[in-house]
Amino acid sequence: MTGKPPGRHKHVPQRMCVVCRRQFDKRRLTRVVRTPDSGVVVDATGKRSGRGAYLCDQPACWDKAIRHAGILNQALNAQMSEAELAAIAADPHRPAAEAEPVQA
Ligand SMILES: [Zn+2]
Repeated sequence: MTGKPPGRHKHVPQRMCVVCRRQFDKRRLTRVVRTPDSGVVVDATGKRSGRGAYLCDQPACWDKAIRHAGILNQALNAQMSEAELAAIAADPHRPAAEAEPVQA
C-alpha cells in the first residue's frame, strides 16, 4: 500500500465498481489490473501492481463491462485486446448469470 489514500472516506475499505459506480466492501469486488507485461488481467489476489479497476459481484456489471470494453479501457487507460476481454469473460471470479442478486 503505497501512495495516497484514494478516497474521502476513511473507514471500511470500500471500492467503486467501474460499471455501476456504487461503493462496495472490497471483498465483494474483483480487481482487474493493467499489468506492464501481461496486459489486462483479473487480479485474484488483489495485490498485483499496476493500474486497477474493480467490478462488483453483480453479473450485470460483468456483462456490461465485457460488452462495452470502453468502460474498463477508460478506467485502466488501456486498450484491451479481444483475447484479454475473452479471458476476463471466462474468469472463474465472474459471478454466474443465474445467481440471484442478494440485496439487503
Ligand atoms: Zn457493479
